[in-house]
Amino acid sequence: MRIKHKAFILALALPPALAGAARAQTIDDVARAMGVAKAETIHYSGTGTFWGVGQSFRPGEAWPRFNMVRATRAFDLKRHVFVSDFVLTQFEVPPRGGAQQPIFGEQRRASGIAGDKAWTVAGAFTIASPRLQPTLLHDYGTSPHALVTAALADKAKLAPAADGWTFEIARSGRWRASVLVGKSRLVERVDSWVDSPVLGDMHVATAYDLYKEIDGVMVPMRLRQWAGGHPVLDFVAAEAKVNAGGIVVPPSIREAPEIVKAEKAAEGVWFLAGGSHHSAAIEMRDHVILFECPLGDARTLAVIAAVKQAIPGKPIRYAVNTHHHFDHAGGLRACAAEGAAIVTHAMNKPYFEAAYAAPRTLSPDALARSGKAASFVAIGDKHVLTDGERVLELHRVKDNSHNDALIVGYLPKEKILLVADAFSPREPVTAIPAQLNPFTTNLWANLQQLKLDVDTVIPIHGRLVKVEELRLAAGAR
Ligand SMILES: [Zn+2]
Repeated sequence: MRIKHKAFILALALPPALAGAARAQTIDDVARAMGVAKAETIHYSGTGTFWGVGQSFRPGEAWPRFNMVRATRAFDLKRHVFVSDFVLTQFEVPPRGGAQQPIFGEQRRASGIAGDKAWTVAGAFTIASPRLQPTLLHDYGTSPHALVTAALADKAKLAPAADGWTFEIARSGRWRASVLVGKSRLVERVDSWVDSPVLGDMHVATAYDLYKEIDGVMVPMRLRQWAGGHPVLDFVAAEAKVNAGGIVVPPSIREAPEIVKAEKAAEGVWFLAGGSHHSAAIEMRDHVILFECPLGDARTLAVIAAVKQAIPGKPIRYAVNTHHHFDHAGGLRACAAEGAAIVTHAMNKPYFEAAYAAPRTLSPDALARSGKAASFVAIGDKHVLTDGERVLELHRVKDNSHNDALIVGYLPKEKILLVADAFSPREPVTAIPAQLNPFTTNLWANLQQLKLDVDTVIPIHGRLVKVEELRLAAGAR
C-alpha cells in the first residue's frame, strides 16, 4: 500500500513532457520529432532587428542596430543552399557606428551560399564573396534542420542535460557547435564558433523557438542570435513554407579575384585600390608605412605583396589602423605577421590585445601560424611619424559618430588626406547632395579646426579625388 502510494505520487510529479522525452535517446528520435526527413526546402519570411557585427561606435560596445523591415531566409537542405535577403532602415538617430550608416530610406542586403560558393548582391551585380563564406557556411550548417541532418550522418551521440540533451558537431576548418535539444526533442539553442579575422574563434549563440508544424516538419518561427557577446539578429517569421521550392541560386556569379592596383598619388605615395577596401603605402627613408590593412589575410597579404613590388627592398615597419571596425582592422594581424607594428588609437589597444589572446583553432591566420605576437604603437589624438624628411601626421577625428577613435592621415608636404568611412567618393560628387552624410560634415569641420591644407584625398572606399569633392559632399562652399 505504501509503495503503491509512492509510485502514484511519482507519476503525478513527473511532467508529461519529461516522461515522453525520457524515450529520446538518439539523434534519430530528434530527427523524427523535427520531421527532418520530410524537409527539402524551408522558406521563412518576416521582420525583425539586425545588428552590424564588428561595427560598434567604441570597441567593446554593442553592435549598431537596424530595423529589418522585410526579410526572407531560405534553406535548401538537399542542395545545401542558404539565401538571406533583407531590407534595413536606420534605427540609430543620429547615426552611430558603422555597417553602412547612414541609411537614407531603405537598403537591401542579400547574400547566399550554394555548397561552398558564397555570393553577395552588390547593386546590379551578384559577385562571389569568399569573405562571407565562413559566416554563410556557419549560418547554413548551424540551422536546426541542417544540424540534425549532419548529426545523423555523423551518428552524433546525445548526452543528457538539465533541459533535455546536447550533442556536439564540427566541420573542420569551418565551425563547431554544441547543440541543446529541448524536452520536446526540438533544437532550442546552438552555441557555435566561427572564425572572425579580429576575434578569432568567435562565439555565436542562437535560440530557436515558437516552433510550428508545417506538413509534418517542425519549423522555428523565431530566431535570436548573439555574436561576439552582443545581439546580431532577432527574426520573427510571419510565414514559413515547407517544400515550396523556388529557392533561386544565381546562375552566374562574377568571380572577383584579389586585385591590387597601385597608383602613384605623389612621389613615394601609393594608392592601393582594386578591391572594396583600399590601402596606401608611404615610402620612408628606410621603411614603409602601410595605411590601412583591411578585411583579413586574403586582402591584406595581396596588398603587402603589391607594396613589395612598388617599393622593393624596404620593410613595412608600421601598419596604421583608421578605426577598430572589423572590415578595416581584419588585416592588421597579417601586417603583424610581416613584422609591422600596429599603430592604433590607445582606445583600441586593450580591445585588440584581448581579441588576439583568444583561441584561433578554426582557421589559423598568418600571425597564428607564425607564432609571433602583435606589437602596438598606441597613439593619442595626434601622432607624427617621420624619418626626418617625410612627415605623416595622424589625427583623431573628434566627435565623429561613425567611430569614437577615427584616425585620418595627413601628409603636409604632399597635401594629401587619407580617410576611411567619413568620406567615400564611390560616385563623382558634382553638387552638394540633397541629404548630407553627418560623418562627412563632421570630418570637414575637423579639417577646418585642424587647419589642414588638403589638395588630394586618398579614400579607403572610392576614388582618388581632389578636395573639391569632399567640400561639396560636406555641404561646404
Ligand atoms: Zn567603419
